[in-house]
Amino acid sequence: MSGVRVVAETGTRTPALVRRWVLFAAALVCSAALSTLATVPPRSETPAPPAGEASVAATSSAAPAKAGRPGRPGRPTAGPLGSRRVDVAANMGPAVATLRRRPAHTIAQRQVPPMPPPRAKVDCQVRKCVALTFDDGPVPGTARLLDILGARGVRATFFVVGLQVAAYPGLVRREFAEGHEIGNHSYTHANLDHMSGAGAGSEMGRTQQAVWRVTGKAPVLFRPPYGATDAGVAAVARRNHLAQIMWAVDPLDWHDRDAALIKRRVVQDVRRGAIILLHDIHGTTVSAVPGIIAALNRKGYVFVTVSELYRGKRLAPGRRYSQR
Ligand SMILES: [Zn+2]
Repeated sequence: MSGVRVVAETGTRTPALVRRWVLFAAALVCSAALSTLATVPPRSETPAPPAGEASVAATSSAAPAKAGRPGRPGRPTAGPLGSRRVDVAANMGPAVATLRRRPAHTIAQRQVPPMPPPRAKVDCQVRKCVALTFDDGPVPGTARLLDILGARGVRATFFVVGLQVAAYPGLVRREFAEGHEIGNHSYTHANLDHMSGAGAGSEMGRTQQAVWRVTGKAPVLFRPPYGATDAGVAAVARRNHLAQIMWAVDPLDWHDRDAALIKRRVVQDVRRGAIILLHDIHGTTVSAVPGIIAALNRKGYVFVTVSELYRGKRLAPGRRYSQR
């Protein structure tokens, strides 16, 4: 006698009273579940803004009103939404609880963040580390640079302009997903030391938002456009939890559009722990990168992101750094 037949036969012989009790119990379970759903908290709460962002929100009329706020630097809120739904129950942190109560349309505005690959830890106290940085993008030519870096296993830091992030979000996602670091380079490439504190705050805050919406992680690094910074810009950077990243090697790639010359200058001036200033908006710079990587590899250099360069040291928001 097969199992199926046993079940079928038992079903037909169940007394009517027992069947009624089973139906009653099922109805009880259903009504309990419905009442639990009805008591879920209202979806109206918004987390308090991180320090310094209140002024940004107040002064930036163009900032999207309904977008979620970036997480505090160093505490990324990234993670695929799909996996977050699974992990939520296990780790009911306050941020997760807030996310649950957020309206569905707010979550939908933020794209599903990509996940960068795991990184091998490089000890820059032992190895000859150097950080390639690329400013002013992304632009369509950034894709060629990403191909070059990816083929050589080199990770870099991109100081992006917020307007370009809005124009090419896919390239910023690709930068992040391929393990590069994203830094803030203002929203419109403005000369911040000529602006009011509120204006500079808006420039930084809008780019923090733009990068966070695309990658799920707000930058912790800021590079002032034109290298123009002063005490006022430093104070705004501090309020936005951003360290100011300058450079130690500048091959003037924006001035001399000559790949061989750019490579020669970088190789000549490079030193251990240096941050190298380049611009991915120039095709000649992108063309110089394979030669720069090959030459520095031969000299024993290891390429790391800026945050990796300073691993083990604390980057203080507002302070300026140009080499390890
Ligand atoms: Zn720039």
